[in-house]
Amino acid sequence: MPDADTQTRTKPAVLILLGPPGAGKGTQARMLQERFGLVQLSTGDLLRAAVKAETEAGKRAKAAMDSGGLVSDEIVLAILKDRMQEPDVARGVILDGFPRTTGQAEALDALLSEEGKTVAAAISIEVDDDAMVRRVSGRYTCANCGEGYHDEFKQPAKAGVCDKCGGTEFTRRADDNAETVKARLSAYHAQTAPLIAYYEARGVLERVDGMGSIDAIATELGDIVKQATA
Ligand code: AMP
Repeated sequence: MPDADTQTRTKPAVLILLGPPGAGKGTQARMLQERFGLVQLSTGDLLRAAVKAETEAGKRAKAAMDSGGLVSDEIVLAILKDRMQEPDVARGVILDGFPRTTGQAEALDALLSEEGKTVAAAISIEVDDDAMVRRVSGRYTCANCGEGYHDEFKQPAKAGVCDKCGGTEFTRRADDNAETVKARLSAYHAQTAPLIAYYEARGVLERVDGMGSIDAIATELGDIVKQATA
Protein backbone atom coordinates (compact mmCIF):
# COMPACT_ATOMS: atom_id res chain seq x y z
CA MET A 1 0.00 0.00 0.00
CA PRO A 2 1.50 3.37 -0.94
CA ASP A 3 1.64 5.84 1.95
CA ALA A 4 -0.22 9.17 2.01
CA ASP A 5 2.62 11.11 0.37
CA THR A 6 2.82 8.66 -2.52
CA GLN A 7 -0.93 8.94 -3.02
CA THR A 8 -1.07 12.74 -2.94
CA ARG A 9 1.87 13.22 -5.31
CA THR A 10 0.37 14.13 -8.65
CA LYS A 11 3.24 14.57 -11.11
CA PRO A 12 6.07 12.12 -11.85
CA ALA A 13 8.90 14.61 -11.48
CA VAL A 14 12.64 14.78 -12.06
CA LEU A 15 14.45 16.08 -8.97
CA ILE A 16 18.16 16.59 -8.48
CA LEU A 17 20.22 16.43 -5.29
CA LEU A 18 23.38 18.52 -5.52
CA GLY A 19 26.11 18.57 -2.89
CA PRO A 20 29.68 17.49 -2.16
CA PRO A 21 30.60 13.93 -1.11
CA GLY A 22 29.29 13.31 2.39
CA ALA A 23 26.49 15.88 2.16
CA GLY A 24 23.96 13.10 2.68
CA LYS A 25 22.62 12.86 -0.88
CA GLY A 26 22.43 9.06 -0.85
CA THR A 27 20.79 8.84 2.57
CA GLN A 28 18.25 11.51 1.72
CA ALA A 29 17.54 10.12 -1.76
CA ARG A 30 16.75 6.73 -0.24
CA MET A 31 14.40 8.35 2.28
CA LEU A 32 12.63 10.28 -0.50
CA GLN A 33 12.34 7.08 -2.49
CA GLU A 34 10.58 5.35 0.39
CA ARG A 35 8.37 8.28 1.25
CA PHE A 36 7.27 9.46 -2.19
CA GLY A 37 7.75 6.41 -4.40
CA LEU A 38 10.35 8.27 -6.46
CA VAL A 39 13.16 6.17 -7.92
CA GLN A 40 16.63 6.94 -6.56
CA LEU A 41 19.05 7.06 -9.43
CA SER A 42 22.68 7.28 -8.36
CA THR A 43 25.33 7.39 -11.08
CA GLY A 44 27.90 6.45 -8.41
CA ASP A 45 25.96 3.24 -7.67
CA LEU A 46 25.52 2.50 -11.39
CA LEU A 47 29.25 3.03 -11.99
CA ARG A 48 30.27 0.88 -8.99
CA ALA A 49 28.02 -1.88 -10.34
CA ALA A 50 29.66 -1.55 -13.78
CA VAL A 51 33.14 -1.74 -12.21
CA LYS A 52 32.15 -4.83 -10.21
CA ALA A 53 30.65 -6.51 -13.29
CA GLU A 54 33.81 -5.59 -15.25
CA THR A 55 31.81 -4.18 -18.16
CA GLU A 56 33.66 -2.13 -20.80
CA ALA A 57 32.32 1.11 -19.25
CA GLY A 58 33.26 -0.11 -15.78
CA LYS A 59 36.84 -0.84 -16.83
CA ARG A 60 37.15 2.62 -18.36
CA ALA A 61 35.61 4.34 -15.30
CA LYS A 62 37.66 2.59 -12.60
CA ALA A 63 40.85 4.68 -12.64
CA ALA A 64 38.99 8.01 -12.35
CA MET A 65 36.85 6.64 -9.52
CA ASP A 66 39.83 5.27 -7.60
CA SER A 67 41.61 8.62 -7.75
CA GLY A 68 38.55 10.68 -6.77
CA GLY A 69 38.25 12.38 -10.18
CA LEU A 70 35.19 12.45 -12.40
CA VAL A 71 34.39 9.77 -14.95
CA SER A 72 33.98 11.15 -18.50
CA ASP A 73 30.62 12.61 -19.46
CA GLU A 74 30.44 10.13 -22.34
CA ILE A 75 30.54 7.07 -20.05
CA VAL A 76 28.25 8.54 -17.40
CA LEU A 77 25.66 9.69 -19.93
CA ALA A 78 25.60 6.30 -21.65
CA ILE A 79 24.99 4.57 -18.29
CA LEU A 80 22.36 7.10 -17.25
CA LYS A 81 20.47 6.95 -20.55
CA ASP A 82 20.28 3.16 -20.30
CA ARG A 83 18.87 3.39 -16.80
CA MET A 84 16.36 6.09 -17.80
CA GLN A 85 14.84 3.66 -20.33
CA GLU A 86 13.65 1.33 -17.59
CA PRO A 87 9.91 1.48 -16.86
CA ASP A 88 10.13 2.31 -13.12
CA VAL A 89 11.57 5.74 -14.01
CA ALA A 90 8.05 6.79 -15.06
CA ARG A 91 7.22 7.10 -11.32
CA GLY A 92 9.59 10.09 -11.13
CA VAL A 93 13.27 10.15 -10.23
CA ILE A 94 15.56 11.63 -7.67
CA LEU A 95 18.97 12.03 -9.25
CA ASP A 96 21.79 11.54 -6.75
CA GLY A 97 25.27 12.47 -7.96
CA PHE A 98 24.11 13.48 -11.43
CA PRO A 99 24.58 15.88 -13.14
CA ARG A 100 28.12 16.67 -12.00
CA THR A 101 29.26 18.91 -14.90
CA THR A 102 27.62 21.59 -17.02
CA GLY A 103 27.87 19.21 -20.00
CA GLN A 104 25.87 16.60 -18.08
CA ALA A 105 23.26 19.19 -17.04
CA GLU A 106 22.81 20.29 -20.66
CA ALA A 107 22.58 16.67 -21.81
CA LEU A 108 19.93 16.00 -19.15
CA ASP A 109 17.89 19.02 -20.29
CA ALA A 110 18.07 17.74 -23.88
CA LEU A 111 17.07 14.22 -22.83
CA LEU A 112 14.10 15.47 -20.83
CA SER A 113 12.93 17.94 -23.45
CA GLU A 114 12.58 15.07 -25.94
CA GLU A 115 9.81 13.87 -23.62
CA GLY A 116 8.40 17.33 -22.90
CA LYS A 117 9.78 17.27 -19.36
CA THR A 118 11.96 19.62 -17.29
CA VAL A 119 13.79 19.45 -13.97
CA ALA A 120 11.21 20.18 -11.23
CA ALA A 121 13.78 21.13 -8.58
CA ALA A 122 17.54 21.02 -8.05
CA ILE A 123 18.22 20.90 -4.33
CA SER A 124 21.64 22.00 -3.13
CA ILE A 125 22.57 20.40 0.21
CA GLU A 126 25.01 22.92 1.66
CA VAL A 127 27.72 21.75 4.07
CA ASP A 128 31.13 22.81 5.45
CA ASP A 129 34.11 21.28 3.68
CA ASP A 130 35.87 20.58 6.98
CA ALA A 131 33.11 18.32 8.24
CA MET A 132 33.05 16.30 5.04
CA VAL A 133 36.22 14.29 5.43
CA ARG A 134 35.11 13.11 8.87
CA ARG A 135 31.63 12.28 7.64
CA VAL A 136 32.76 10.35 4.61
CA SER A 137 35.54 8.42 6.34
CA GLY A 138 33.11 6.95 8.92
CA ARG A 139 30.41 5.68 6.62
CA TYR A 140 29.48 2.14 5.63
CA THR A 141 26.49 0.34 4.15
CA CYS A 142 24.60 -2.91 4.59
CA ALA A 143 25.96 -5.33 1.97
CA ASN A 144 22.49 -6.81 1.51
CA CYS A 145 20.08 -3.85 1.21
CA GLY A 146 22.41 -0.84 0.88
CA GLU A 147 21.12 0.99 3.98
CA GLY A 148 23.71 3.59 5.00
CA TYR A 149 25.32 3.84 8.45
CA HIS A 150 28.06 5.88 10.10
CA ASP A 151 30.55 5.09 12.88
CA GLU A 152 29.69 8.30 14.67
CA PHE A 153 26.32 9.56 13.44
CA LYS A 154 24.16 6.55 12.66
CA GLN A 155 24.85 3.13 14.11
CA PRO A 156 22.35 0.24 13.74
CA ALA A 157 20.09 -0.13 16.82
CA LYS A 158 21.64 -3.57 17.43
CA ALA A 159 25.39 -3.59 16.82
CA GLY A 160 26.32 -5.48 13.67
CA VAL A 161 22.72 -6.02 12.48
CA CYS A 162 21.08 -3.91 9.77
CA ASP A 163 17.93 -2.11 11.04
CA LYS A 164 16.23 -2.48 7.67
CA CYS A 165 16.84 -6.08 6.61
CA GLY A 166 18.62 -7.85 9.47
CA GLY A 167 21.74 -8.33 7.33
CA THR A 168 25.01 -8.79 9.20
CA GLU A 169 27.53 -7.92 6.49
CA PHE A 170 28.59 -4.36 5.88
CA THR A 171 30.86 -2.75 3.29
CA ARG A 172 32.91 0.42 3.05
CA ARG A 173 33.56 2.12 -0.27
CA ALA A 174 37.15 1.95 -1.48
CA ASP A 175 37.10 5.69 -2.30
CA ASP A 176 35.90 6.72 1.19
CA ASN A 177 39.40 7.44 2.52
CA ALA A 178 40.75 10.83 3.60
CA GLU A 179 43.02 11.33 0.59
CA THR A 180 40.47 10.44 -2.10
CA VAL A 181 37.79 12.47 -0.35
CA LYS A 182 39.95 15.59 -0.74
CA ALA A 183 40.25 14.94 -4.48
CA ARG A 184 36.49 14.37 -4.68
CA LEU A 185 35.85 17.65 -2.86
CA SER A 186 38.13 19.50 -5.31
CA ALA A 187 36.30 17.92 -8.25
CA TYR A 188 33.03 19.05 -6.68
CA HIS A 189 34.14 22.66 -6.31
CA ALA A 190 35.75 22.88 -9.76
CA GLN A 191 33.18 21.01 -11.83
CA THR A 192 29.90 20.54 -9.96
CA ALA A 193 29.41 23.67 -7.80
CA PRO A 194 28.84 25.82 -10.96
CA LEU A 195 25.60 23.87 -11.43
CA ILE A 196 24.13 25.77 -8.47
CA ALA A 197 24.17 28.93 -10.63
CA TYR A 198 22.99 26.90 -13.65
CA TYR A 199 19.79 25.82 -11.88
CA GLU A 200 19.35 29.15 -10.09
CA ALA A 201 19.24 30.85 -13.50
CA ARG A 202 16.47 28.41 -14.50
CA GLY A 203 14.43 29.22 -11.39
CA VAL A 204 14.45 25.68 -9.97
CA LEU A 205 17.18 25.90 -7.33
CA GLU A 206 16.42 25.18 -3.67
CA ARG A 207 19.02 25.37 -0.91
CA VAL A 208 18.99 23.22 2.22
CA ASP A 209 21.30 23.45 5.24
CA GLY A 210 23.04 20.06 5.22
CA MET A 211 24.65 20.45 8.66
CA GLY A 212 21.43 19.67 10.57
CA SER A 213 20.23 16.24 11.67
CA ILE A 214 19.27 13.61 9.08
CA ASP A 215 15.61 13.91 10.12
CA ALA A 216 15.55 17.71 10.02
CA ILE A 217 17.01 17.71 6.51
CA ALA A 218 14.55 15.01 5.44
CA THR A 219 11.63 17.13 6.64
CA GLU A 220 12.87 20.15 4.71
CA LEU A 221 13.48 18.08 1.57
CA GLY A 222 10.06 16.49 1.87
CA ASP A 223 8.40 19.93 1.86
CA ILE A 224 10.36 20.93 -1.24
CA VAL A 225 9.46 17.70 -3.04
CA LYS A 226 5.78 18.11 -2.18
CA GLN A 227 5.79 21.62 -3.58
CA ALA A 228 7.76 20.74 -6.69
CA THR A 229 5.54 17.78 -7.55
CA ALA A 230 2.14 19.22 -6.60
P1 AMP B 1 29.36 9.02 -5.71
O1 AMP B 1 28.86 7.68 -5.31
O2 AMP B 1 28.26 9.90 -6.27
O3 AMP B 1 30.14 9.70 -4.63
O4 AMP B 1 30.38 8.78 -6.94
C1 AMP B 1 31.57 8.03 -6.76
C2 AMP B 1 32.49 8.29 -7.92
O5 AMP B 1 31.87 7.89 -9.15
C3 AMP B 1 32.87 9.75 -8.13
O6 AMP B 1 33.98 10.13 -7.33
C4 AMP B 1 33.20 9.76 -9.62
O7 AMP B 1 34.47 9.20 -9.87
C5 AMP B 1 32.16 8.82 -10.19
N1 AMP B 1 30.90 9.49 -10.57
C6 AMP B 1 29.66 9.31 -10.03
N2 AMP B 1 28.73 10.07 -10.64
C7 AMP B 1 29.40 10.76 -11.60
C8 AMP B 1 29.00 11.72 -12.56
N3 AMP B 1 27.73 12.14 -12.66
N4 AMP B 1 29.97 12.20 -13.40
C9 AMP B 1 31.26 11.80 -13.32
N5 AMP B 1 31.70 10.91 -12.42
C10 AMP B 1 30.79 10.38 -11.56
